Parts: sequence; C-alpha cells; structure tokens
Amino acid sequence: MIKSNGFSANGNGLHLLNGNGKNGHNHAHDEIGDEHVGTSYDTPLRDDAFDLDDTTKIDLITEHFREIMQILGLDLNDDSLNGTPRRVAKMYVQEIFKGLNPQNKPAITLFDNKYKYEEMIVEKDVTVYSTCEHHFVPIIGKAHVAYVSTGKVIGLSKINRLVQFYCKRPQVQERLTNQIGEALKEALQTEHVAVVIDADHLCVASRGVQDVNSSTVTAFYSGKFREDNTKNEFLKYIG
Ligand SMILES: [Zn+2]
Repeated sequence: MIKSNGFSANGNGLHLLNGNGKNGHNHAHDEIGDEHVGTSYDTPLRDDAFDLDDTTKIDLITEHFREIMQILGLDLNDDSLNGTPRRVAKMYVQEIFKGLNPQNKPAITLFDNKYKYEEMIVEKDVTVYSTCEHHFVPIIGKAHVAYVSTGKVIGLSKINRLVQFYCKRPQVQERLTNQIGEALKEALQTEHVAVVIDADHLCVASRGVQDVNSSTVTAFYSGKFREDNTKNEFLKYIG
C-alpha cells in the first residue's frame, strides 16, 4: 500500500484524482510550465521515490495510462491500442525516465593524463534526447561539453553516457545543463568544465505558440571557462 501524493495502489482501483475533493489543478503551476521556468536545481524527487521496484512501477503506470486512454474515449480493445498502456509504462521506467534512479548512473573510470595534454578537451554534438517535465513531450538537441584536465581524463564515451543519464528524466533544460556540468566536475575532479545545450522543445513546436524554428541555448561555465579567452576558444570549436 502506497500513500503519497494522493495516489493509492490497492491492487484494483487506481485513482487518478486526489482524494481531497479538489481536482489538483492549479493555474499558477500551469503558467510556470508554459514559461518553462525551472524551480529547483536537483530533480524534485520524494524520499520514497524508489520504495517501489521497477516491475511494480510498470504495473501501476500501465493501469493509470490505460485509464487516461479510456477517459480520452479510446477503444482499448482495438489491436493497435491494447498494448499501448504497458508499452508506455515500460518506456517510462526502463528507458526515458531511467535516469531518475541513481543506481543507473554510469560508473566513471578515470585515467591518468599520461600525455600531459593541458589544453581543453571538447566533446561536440552529443545527442540530447530528454523530456520536458511540464508537458512530457521530447526535448531534442545537442550538448557540447568541454573540460581541462587537472591530472585525470575520462573515456569520451563516458561523457555521452553521463549526458544521457541526466537526459533520461523529466527535465527543464536549465537544470539538465547544470546537472551535467556539476556531474562532470565531480567525475573529473576538475573545476574547469563547460556545457552548452542547444535544443528544440516539442512542446513549443507542436502546441502553445507552435514555433517550429526556435531553439533554446543554455550554458554552464566553471573554473577557467569563466574567463573570456577560454570560453571564446570553446565557443569557437563548437560554433
Ligand atoms: Zn514543455
């Protein structure tokens, strides 16, 4: 039996509405979402976020998603639709929101910087495929990451894995950028890290203002990357 956020899992009835008599709808929250304002640095997770195992989460989400489709009026007996609730539930837990669970964070192995390479290392065009936490639709783009070693280096594919880990959460782009930057500082034991993300938000393209041409750029600079010459060198490489 789970009691949190008004959801209860009692094996049969899954309740979409809060039990407090209100519909849980708050206009101010809608507006935060439409402006895409991030409100916290860490992904807002409850303490009991991982009390349920993945199998249980998939079962529960399947039931809830089936109910959403039913409310929309879809015929769940249709061959094309009847596998959708479980497909979506598995996709949420095992793929696109896998990065919520710290256990899925990639292990990072560091190597000594034997070549005495002292310039910046830039990893360009890392695929960003994340999910807007305000609308649950994709954020698609590229991340450009750089660091200056203080004695340790990292396998380049590990940078991609770290980016992907933080992408696989409901996100706002600002938080995603900062989380990747901080994680790289920690993993690489260096202050000198830069992250630029250039991404399209499908919630902006497909709904709301329906602008298909705009993209959003966010940046994280620390250590030497706060100095103009280092920052400009980085920007020249990714430009
Ligand atoms: Zn959105």
